[in-house]
Amino acid sequence: MQKIVKTSWKELFDFLEEKVNFHYKKEQSKTPENISWICFGDLRFVEAFCKTRNLDTSAVIKRLNETGGYCDCEVLFNSVANIDSNEIMPVKPIKK
Ligand SMILES: [Zn+2]
Repeated sequence: MQKIVKTSWKELFDFLEEKVNFHYKKEQSKTPENISWICFGDLRFVEAFCKTRNLDTSAVIKRLNETGGYCDCEVLFNSVANIDSNEIMPVKPIKK
């Protein structure tokens, strides 16, 4: 029997923070207009994470949408505040 590793939402948020990578375009001027990050307007980083962890992608996306996360950066802006990071993420249903 395959051992199921439980993944908490915190792991996803940490992963996204790294991928979305909020940073200043120029270190010298730390103004809000100078902040840059990587987002493709979809949940491709979330999906990639779900695949590597054997998570139920559609259940994860549903939860993120409900908490205001419709793309990778919105997850960090909105969902983080609305999901308990210690909660275990939904795993893929086991098929026979
Ligand atoms: Zn975004």
